[in-house]
Order: sequence, then C-alpha cells, then structure tokens
Amino acid sequence: MVTMSNSRDRGRASLLRALDYDLKHTLRANRAVALWRLITGYRLLYGAALVALALAALARVGSMFVLRYFVDAVLLSSQRILTLAPWYALGFVALALVQGSASYMAGKWANQTAEGACCRLRNYLYDHMQRLPFAFHDQNQTGDLLQRVTSDVETVRKLYAVHIASMGRMSMLLVISVIGMLLLHPRLTGYSLVVLPVVFGLSLFFFPLIEKRYAEAQAQEGRLSARLQENLSGVRVVRAFVRQAFERALTETENAEFLRRNCRVVHLNALFWPLSDLLTSGQLLVSTYLGARMVMAGDLTLGAYLAFIGLLGQLMFPIRTLGRLVTQISMGWISFQRMARIIREEREVLDPADAWAPRHLRGEIQFRQVSFAYETVRSIETGAETPARRAPVVLRDISFHVRPGQVWAVLGPTGSGKSTLVSLLPRFYDYDAGAILLDGVELRRYAKSFVRRCVGIVQQDAFLFSATIRENLLFGVERTIADEALFAAARTAHIHDVIESFPDGYATLVGEKGVTLSGGQKQRLTIARTLLQDPKILIMDDALSAVDAHTEYRIRAALQALMATRTTFIIGHRIQSIRHADQILVLDEGRIAQQGTHAELVACPGLYRNVYRIQTRIEEELQEELQGSVAQASAGPPANAARPAAAWADGRTVQPSQT
Ligand code: ADP
Repeated sequence: MVTMSNSRDRGRASLLRALDYDLKHTLRANRAVALWRLITGYRLLYGAALVALALAALARVGSMFVLRYFVDAVLLSSQRILTLAPWYALGFVALALVQGSASYMAGKWANQTAEGACCRLRNYLYDHMQRLPFAFHDQNQTGDLLQRVTSDVETVRKLYAVHIASMGRMSMLLVISVIGMLLLHPRLTGYSLVVLPVVFGLSLFFFPLIEKRYAEAQAQEGRLSARLQENLSGVRVVRAFVRQAFERALTETENAEFLRRNCRVVHLNALFWPLSDLLTSGQLLVSTYLGARMVMAGDLTLGAYLAFIGLLGQLMFPIRTLGRLVTQISMGWISFQRMARIIREEREVLDPADAWAPRHLRGEIQFRQVSFAYETVRSIETGAETPARRAPVVLRDISFHVRPGQVWAVLGPTGSGKSTLVSLLPRFYDYDAGAILLDGVELRRYAKSFVRRCVGIVQQDAFLFSATIRENLLFGVERTIADEALFAAARTAHIHDVIESFPDGYATLVGEKGVTLSGGQKQRLTIARTLLQDPKILIMDDALSAVDAHTEYRIRAALQALMATRTTFIIGHRIQSIRHADQILVLDEGRIAQQGTHAELVACPGLYRNVYRIQTRIEEELQEELQGSVAQASAGPPANAARPAAAWADGRTVQPSQT
C-alpha cells in the first residue's frame, strides 16, 4: 500500500514538473540548443545513448582490426594457428557482444528520452492550450491544434528516437572508420573516398526532392479521399440530381493527378537508388582492385587489405541515406517550430495575486459606455509574426444597469453583438473602453476563475462530453451533490423522465459511443448542468431555440423560481420567449437601439415593434392554416394529411395563448 501511494506521489510529482516546466525559454535559443533544452531531465540518458553509439561504432571498427591481426599474425603463420585462433575467436565474439549490447542500450536510452520528453511535451501543450485566451481558440481550428499535439509531437519523438540517433551513429561510424582506414593505409583511403562526397551530395539533392514530391502525393491522396468520402455520404444527393457522370469525371481527374504525383516519386526513387548503387559499388570495385595490387606489390598486408575493404563496405552503403536523414531532421525541426508558435502564445492570467473574490455576490451589473472589438491574433497555421491588429468595433457605448435578481432579455438581428455582450460578463474577453461593474466593483478586478464560477451560461450549441449523463451533469460542480439535487435539476430542465427512460438511467453514455440525443434533449441537459453549477448570474444564450415551444414554456415556468434568486440574461429571437423579462435590450449593429419592458417597446415605433408585428402575423397565419387543416381532417382527409397538424400539436402554435 505504502509503496503504491509512494509511486503515485512520485508520478504526480513528475507530472507537476512537466506542467511547471516552462518551455518558452527553450525557444529563444538556436536550433541545436533548443533541441538540447527540450530534453532537460533526460540529457544524461541521451548523452549515454550517444556514448553507447560511439562504443558500438568503435567495436565495429575494432573487429576489422582483429580480423587484420588474425589474418596477418595467425592465419598466415601456420605454427601458432591452433593456440591463437581460439583467442581471436573470443575477441570477435566479445566485440560483437559489445557492439550488440551498446546498440541495444543506445536504442533503449534514446527511445526513453524521446518518449519521456514527448510525453511531457504533450502534457505541456495540452495544459498550455487550456490556458490560452478565447481569442486564440477563435482564430485557430481545432483540427490544427489537434495535429500539433499528435502528429507534430510524434515527428519530434522520431527526431530524438531515430533520426538524431541515426545521424549520431553514422557520423561516428564515418569518423571512426575513416580514422581506421587512415591507420591501415592513408593513400588507399584517399583513393577510396573520392566518390563519398558525390554520393552524399547526390543524396542531399534527391531526398529533399523526394520528400517534397511525396508530400504533394500525400496531399493529393487526402483530396481524393475527401472527395470520395463526400461522394459516398452524399450519394443520395448525387443520384437525386443525376450528377453521377459529372462526379465520376471529377473523381477521375483527382485520381489521375494522384497517379501523376505518385509516378514522380517513383521516378525519383528509380533514379536515385541505382545511381547511388552504381557509384558506391564502382568505388568498392576500384578500391578492391587498387588494394589487391598493393597487396601483390607488398605495399599492404593481406589482413590490412581485408580489414580495409570491410571498413569501406560498412561505410559506403549507409552514407547513401544521409540525405534522407538530413531531410527528416529538418522536417522534425519544422514540427518543432510549429509547436513553438503555440508555446510562444501568452497564457490568460487567471488569478492575479491581488484579484478580488468576495464571499457573496448580489448579482448587480452595470455597463458604463462599454465598447469592444475582437482582437485578431496570428494564426498558428500561417505563423505570420505581424503585430495583432484590432478588428472592427462590435459593441459601442453600451450602458445599462441590472439590479440583483432581475431578468433581462437581449434581442437583435444576427451579428448585432448579443453573444459578445454576454460573453464579457464571465471575462471570456476583456472590454476595451468604458467599465463593467459587478456589485459596484470593476469586473477586471475580479479573479477570472471567480467570475466564471459565478456566471453560468447555457449556450446555443449544447456541448456534451463522451461520458455518462451523470458525469456530464456534474461537470464543473465542485461540491458534493446528493442524488435528489441532481434529479431536481434534471426535473427543472424537463429531462429527468427522458433520462429515466434509458435502461442505464443516469449512467447512460452519451456522445459517439453512447445514445444519440436530440438537439432539444442535449440542450435540456446543459440547462440542468448549469443549474447544478448554481451560478449567481445566469445567461441563456439562445438556449431554448432547440426545444419546442411547449417544453420551452414548461422550462421557463420551472426556471421562474430559480431566476428569482439570480440575475438572468436571456438572448432570444422569439418575442414570446422574452416578453416577460423585466427589461429588454434591443441591439442593432453593436449599439443599444431600444430599451424597456415589452409593453413600453410595443407602444413605440422601432425595431422591437416591427419584429413583434411580423412574428404575431406569422403566428396568426399558422393558426389559421392549422384550423383549416383540422377542419379538412374532420371532413375525411387522406391519411397522410393529418401529419402537419400532428407536428404542431406539440404546442408550437398554441404557444401565444399559453404564455
Ligand atoms: P449575435 O450574437 O448578435 O448574433 P455576435 O455577438 O455573435 O452577434 O457577433 C457580433 C459580431 O462580432 C459579428 O460581426 C461577428 O462576426 C463578430 N464576432 C463574433 N464572434 C467573434 C470572434 N470570436 N472573433 C471575431 N469576431 C467575432
């Protein structure tokens, strides 16, 4: 038990180190230093891996020297062969063991370093992205961010585990083998290395090109599969519009392009490998011939000759792939740079030391000439380092005063700034000019974590996690909740009965692997979730748009009691949903166009009255239509004509009289 908790503590401590570890300072340094700093804590291990690689290279070259002495001193002198041969055999075996175990340890340590550093990097990036401001997430697509944490980190992992290690092995092999060859015969070494720079240059030329063409082919494959996927998912539309021939022609064009790009990769490979084979084999042939002549001339011993050819052979072939390694290392660096763009982003300061966090909040809100524009931060994809520019002003000169416990509604055309207005309250964004006072204290003085706990938002697009209903409902609730309280919140949101109808009840999984909920059901779950959070300020951002009018009415009735103790903002499009608010704000192009109660606003000309009249007329027309179809139905309609009436029977048309 003790050891388990100890190891858990140690695990937690190392995770903490991962989160506390500030990667920003690694980014200012140059490439090699940055890569070295990134493996802080693993440097010794990685250093040991590089030393083990050197040892393996030494053992490899050493065995060639043993071969040399074996041939010269033992094989060619018949008297001592029986006594010395076992020792040489032992030497060979020992060197092979050293080489094998050093290579094994090098691989193990390099992988441990790569896995450890990248696990920390993933934790760091995840934590960092959680703390970046909303503006950053607005500007960058989820897919891009996901790619940074998955494929870019994987590329960096390979960089440490494979590419840098291979580069180290090859460089050491090159240096140690060339030194060995020079010791054996300097002149023959000179002749034998003529082709080396040519092969290296060739591989440096070809591999970046191959990688580029390969990436182009991959991109085309992506386009092709996207097209196929779209075609298959939209197969009904394609057939309904009789577009099969057109779609097939388009797909064939994409496929032909894929073939063309793949062929380019194949051609480059088909050119490089035989060419480099020709050069290296030619070089080996020439060196073998020249060496043999030197042996015959007595300039080189037979043992030295064999060792020399062995060294040259083990050197020449790997050199051909050096260009590929250089390319892969530079690709790893590009991935690192892409992550660096995220790491450089400044985090949101949640709770400064002097932040204000009172025990109780009354919920009084005052806007004083507030103006706001979204900040355009640079996108991580383009990475343009241009200074942040200010976008057009979204809210201008907004002033109003909400007393504790009041219900305020905000109405206005799409894009008029309704959501922006309410998102200033939990400090998702900070206003530029004017002041927002919460209980008489400037909003900026409060800790962000405090205001976010006090402000509950039910958003238009209900988001649920792939977890059980209970887990979703308790998300963000920090206190213990009794089952009764949980059920009460679900009842208020009119979702309890739906949950109970599932075989697993509150333990039902939702999301991709669980049950599929309708938009309205999801919305009601998020309402229950927010109620459990028990916020002092409640924001319903078009929250009831996905539920039918009858349910909306029932939810609103249930919410009445809850609203009495908290300040509430309702954003809505239907006058019926907002007419009972204490005050209604009508926004137009970021300004307050009108303000008042429903009765006041209907009494004077303006946007509100226009919307009210249009909506009332539509309701009346629908009512008439409904009555018409009901009359028709009672006169004996065809069976399917009853459907529209049934669709309205959920209360959509009876809503005006209900409310
Ligand atoms: P509404 O809720 O009234 O439909 P919004 O508050 O969503 O309006 O949007 C007001 C304006 O702000 C729109 O012009 C919209 O394009 C812009 N906008 C909204 N959200 C963002 C954002 N995250 N970044 C930049 N501009 C935004």
